[in-house]
Amino acid sequence: MKIGFIGLGNMGAPMAANLAKAGHAVTGYDAARVTVDGVEQAATAEEAARGKEVVITMLPNGDILRSVAAEIVPAMERGAVLLDCSTVDVDSARAVAADAQARGLSALDAPVSGGVGGARDGTLTFMVGGDEVGFQKAKPLFDIMGKKAVHCGPAGNGQAAKICNNMILGATMIVTCEAFALADKLGLDRQAMFDVVSTSSGSSWSMNTYCPAPGVGPTSPADNDYQPGFAADLMLKDLRLAQEAAASADADTPLGRAARDLYARFVESEEGQGKDFSAMLPRFEARGHSSD
Ligand code: NAD
Repeated sequence: MKIGFIGLGNMGAPMAANLAKAGHAVTGYDAARVTVDGVEQAATAEEAARGKEVVITMLPNGDILRSVAAEIVPAMERGAVLLDCSTVDVDSARAVAADAQARGLSALDAPVSGGVGGARDGTLTFMVGGDEVGFQKAKPLFDIMGKKAVHCGPAGNGQAAKICNNMILGATMIVTCEAFALADKLGLDRQAMFDVVSTSSGSSWSMNTYCPAPGVGPTSPADNDYQPGFAADLMLKDLRLAQEAAASADADTPLGRAARDLYARFVESEEGQGKDFSAMLPRFEARGHSSD
């Protein structure tokens, strides 16, 4: 397949490399002039997109996606697929898709989970919104870049699924860390706490798979001095997107809001910048009941 790939950062570069390794003809463009093995370099986004069957974007946010889409959509041929894998706000995803569809393209929003390791190993999960025809055309590419692709409905629904999932994850991680800090102060051994909760009704991915307590449960960023993993500032980005969507859809999400506020504080005025999102545990350990 002839593929354009725009945005060759931490995620985009290994994803593009995997498509090229699988034998696709990939032309890439990044504003920072990044080069990737096996990927032909274009001088502009428009050049990377022109004449391609699928154009993939992996960009930082919705505003950048909108401006790149405005440049490349007119250069793409009818029937081609615009496949955005960035994490962006639902409104931008739907606006870009509407514009692309109006010009005879298939548009998919397909944010990912799995992080940089998943991008490198080709084991990402894609949450996909958009039309079925586009989904079927992109399916072989999802199979190369990832291990699973779930079609969640029309345009924007991939982003909706991603931010709902990460709102649950953020709130669950916070309460798991709070509970460990409380257990410490009650004299409960962390291993005993893990053994009980991981097999009881308080269990979750945050406890069972990504335990925030060092030396307890499977190996996680807690065992590597909270080096990310999934960085707290990326969690904050997703929690902010969830709150934007909640405001836009008039949904009441008090725990999602509290999680956003805590991660904002952690990243912007405490020690959270550059740390894994599970580093909330040492934060709570250092605080008392009436800390503000
Ligand atoms: P990144 O900052 O490493 O890469 C983004 C790239 O886009 C950069 O190389 C930048 O130069 C390029 N870019 C910016 N503006 C551009 C433009 N106008 N034209 C062309 N290129 C442009 O970010 P990343 O970690 O690769 O993340 C990409 C997306 O994936 C984000 O939306 C992020 O939220 C999402 N995501 C990241 C992770 C992760 O673990 N890093 C996990 C899941 C989802």
